[in-house]
Amino acid sequence: MIRQRAILHVDMDAFFASVEQQDDPRLAGQPVVVGGTGARAVVAAASYEARRFGVHSAMPMREALRRCPQVLVIQPRMRRYREISAQVFEIFRSFTELVEGLSLDEAYLDLSDRLHPGGSAEAIAREIRARIHALTGLTASVGVAHNKLLAKLASGMHKPDGLTVIRPAEVEAILDPLPVGRLHGIGARTGARLEQQGIFTLGQLRQAPESVLWPLFRRETRRIRERAAGIDDRPVVTDVPEKQISSEETFDRDLRDQRLLGERLAGLAERTARRLQERQLEASTVTIKVRRRDFVTYTRQRSFSPPTQETSLIVEVATGLLRRWFEEQPRAAVRLLGVGVGDLAPARQLDLFTAGRASERAFAAASTAGHDEHPPGPDWTP
Ligand SMILES: [Mg+2]
Repeated sequence: MIRQRAILHVDMDAFFASVEQQDDPRLAGQPVVVGGTGARAVVAAASYEARRFGVHSAMPMREALRRCPQVLVIQPRMRRYREISAQVFEIFRSFTELVEGLSLDEAYLDLSDRLHPGGSAEAIAREIRARIHALTGLTASVGVAHNKLLAKLASGMHKPDGLTVIRPAEVEAILDPLPVGRLHGIGARTGARLEQQGIFTLGQLRQAPESVLWPLFRRETRRIRERAAGIDDRPVVTDVPEKQISSEETFDRDLRDQRLLGERLAGLAERTARRLQERQLEASTVTIKVRRRDFVTYTRQRSFSPPTQETSLIVEVATGLLRRWFEEQPRAAVRLLGVGVGDLAPARQLDLFTAGRASERAFAAASTAGHDEHPPGPDWTP
């Protein structure tokens, strides 16, 4: 018999807002949001008192103030959040080295090899929650299950301050009635298309005929069906190596001026190249991201060889991609630009004789690609 894994998903409750309430007793019990105050600011975290007014994270600050005019807006103090996050992760690592951080306040833990015969992951989850509370005064919600998908689902089921276990025998009963949108990766658009086919719940998705799912998910069909059935064998991965380095900028007002946008993009490409050089890496793809006023987001990518860390080449490829995008969308108003580099590898030692000629190096484009993403929210990506 294959032994079940024991996975925890730990998620601090309203983390930034809770830290603020913990540090300043005057904020306790008050509707509090953490975030900026500029015209484009969004809510980074909302206390549960603020959530009662329909305020939630990622909401424009203006909308939060409309829904809850008395809400207290606190400037983020990232250093403080990082400090507390480090304490919390220290607690995680005292139970297992297999910790996969998803953000400052969220992680998967794999306890499979840490359980004594007869030991229970639930008992460890209880212990972790108690230690977090004792050390920081904050609460965490924890999900316990035999895989990441179910552990994450479980941690969200009784927030805040919840502990939820999903056992293998309960999976269908818990998942089947859930709306398809609860599955990570099924955004509003895919959700709507499933509903057109009469598929509203994960149970229906799990049992849907191939002829209905294939046109929607193609090669992902089998995986989607498995996820809907609560099957997920992704490992808990520690210390994920960097896959991409990117810089992006949201403008205070939407921009249409192509020359100005080209300059801003070049600046972002320079910043990205600098970070690549600092890490002594080379890249062989450059990706640009363009978000229009209506939040439709485009990415355009070009791969090349040999790999490079040279600023001028990265700027050239990025601005070339933007120029081509403008040929498709000459009048677009742009709210965000980004430049990323990928396919990273350690930089080779510079050869003194060829270093000076590096910028003359032939620059063979291997492929270009892109995808367009429509709001709201990302849909399934493999
Ligand atoms: Mg959280």
